[in-house]
Amino acid sequence: MEKKQFQAESKRLLEMMVHSIYSQKEIFLRELISNASDAIDKIYYKALTDDSISFNQDDYYIRVEANKDKRTLTVTDTGIGMTKEEIEENLGTIAKSGSLAFKNEIEMKDGQEIIGQFGVGFYSSFMVADNVTVYTRALHSDEGYKWVSDGVDGYTIEPFDKKDVGTEIVIELKQNEDEENYDEYLEEYKLKSIIKKYSDFIRYPIKMDVTEQKPKEDNEDELVEVTEEQTVNSMIPIWRKNKQELTDEDYESFYQEKHFGFDQPLSHLHISVDGMVRFQSILYIPKQPPFNYYSQDFEKGLELYSNGVLIMDKCADLLPDHFSFVRGIVDSEDLSLNISREILQQDRQVNLIAKNLEKKIKNHLQSMLKNDREKYETFFDAFGRQLKYGAYADFGANKDKLKDLLLFYSSTEEKLVTLKEYRDRMPEDQEHIYYATGESHARIEKLPQTEMVKDKGYEILYFTDEVDEFVIKMLMNYDEKEFKNVSSGDLDLEDEETKKEAEKQKEEHKDLLSEMKEILGDKVKDVKLSTRLKSHPVCLSADGDVSIEMEKVLSQMPD
Ligand code: ADP
Ligand code: MG
Repeated sequence: MEKKQFQAESKRLLEMMVHSIYSQKEIFLRELISNASDAIDKIYYKALTDDSISFNQDDYYIRVEANKDKRTLTVTDTGIGMTKEEIEENLGTIAKSGSLAFKNEIEMKDGQEIIGQFGVGFYSSFMVADNVTVYTRALHSDEGYKWVSDGVDGYTIEPFDKKDVGTEIVIELKQNEDEENYDEYLEEYKLKSIIKKYSDFIRYPIKMDVTEQKPKEDNEDELVEVTEEQTVNSMIPIWRKNKQELTDEDYESFYQEKHFGFDQPLSHLHISVDGMVRFQSILYIPKQPPFNYYSQDFEKGLELYSNGVLIMDKCADLLPDHFSFVRGIVDSEDLSLNISREILQQDRQVNLIAKNLEKKIKNHLQSMLKNDREKYETFFDAFGRQLKYGAYADFGANKDKLKDLLLFYSSTEEKLVTLKEYRDRMPEDQEHIYYATGESHARIEKLPQTEMVKDKGYEILYFTDEVDEFVIKMLMNYDEKEFKNVSSGDLDLEDEETKKEAEKQKEEHKDLLSEMKEILGDKVKDVKLSTRLKSHPVCLSADGDVSIEMEKVLSQMPD
């Protein structure tokens, strides 16, 4: 038996890992299973080019086994195994770059969050184990080896008579400490749920003994406990399946399975991209906003997978804020498992995927608007506000992308319309796109200021949402036509004669007007004769750019 020390760097890393409060210790199982799957892949790829190796799918599997008496968890695979040299190389050192990056991170910040995001590979088993034993026999090799380590003092290697090619990793779980419950990892339900969560789409079966209550064969009313080996992962992810083979129900049940929402999805899109970056994605637009959607608590993001293995629950970088309502998953074979939240942000692949998704979502919404107006209005009712925020946030950086997705209520159509529809209906002589603001459609209808515009036969957009006007101010114009509030002072809709008459009247009533202004004092800026009133004696009018409603909103904002 040979006893060896870990390389100095590895040793320090191990200590840090074991002693830091890892936020998700359970990922050790994901790492072991991924390694097992990689090991089977290696045989599979070899078999493609080497006729002497036959690859019979049924012979390849991963097995997870808990032993409560011994407090051990065993992960077995029928993969390629390791030679003695490979054991030394792979389990005796930690890839330099990985450990360096890890170390730098941990010294900079205070650990918890960051480590939780790292795939720390084989070594992560020492977070839950006092002792790890690896039995392995490489393909085409007659002898096997046993590698043992406590993760602190180095490791031992000795020959071991292993019957089959492959690897068996036995981890002896730590004793429960104050807050840490390692016994959990011996429970069937816990193991199953960890496997489902992270490793559901591993291509090879992950087998486990599962105990269930089953009706007796001779007497259906009586239940007996039956333990049998089951495959716990679903293996083929729905996003890898052919769109043509999938039904709406398939997508809906995946939505439910993933707990994306309690509702049914309003719409889904299934994307498969094979370009500069390769990825598959299934995205959903929920029917209703989550209860906390329009609050600070809401966290946007998509589930991110690397080749079928979950690396992040909510990857925010994949979605722009204006599409934060989208739920779903992204899987890319071009991402590595060992990726941290910090690295992700600068990751070229992730940025490419995000750009691509944004475009796809926009197109999807646009075609929904075109082809299924009713559905789009349901969508807009739920999330239109977010699109509006998106259009004016960041100083309007995204306004051009979003302007054609916005809907506003129209005075003439008496329903929601797009700016383009409004624009296309505009008579030749109409100079502006008119809007009016108020609490409700009914209140706006009563505004004296709308009368003249309506009389001209012009359409008015009714803004009842506080953000509407902010959006319009940011857009400034649509297809070269400026937006104009019907309440603004300078509508300029009168003909020459009316204007002349108004001048005359103004002169005649000069004294009256200044008298009124004096009486009203600070309450108004000016009192003017108006030409736009028909059935109302008086109206309030805003001077300059900001409407009365907007002034209200602005004055409520904290400075
Ligand atoms: P990574 O998987 O990122 O390379 P790990 O720390 O998870 O890093 O594993 C280190 C190496 O150990 C692997 O690259 C592989 O060569 C070897 N290894 C780990 N587990 C197994 C296994 N079950 N079968 C064969 N080789 C393995
Ligand atoms: Mg690994």
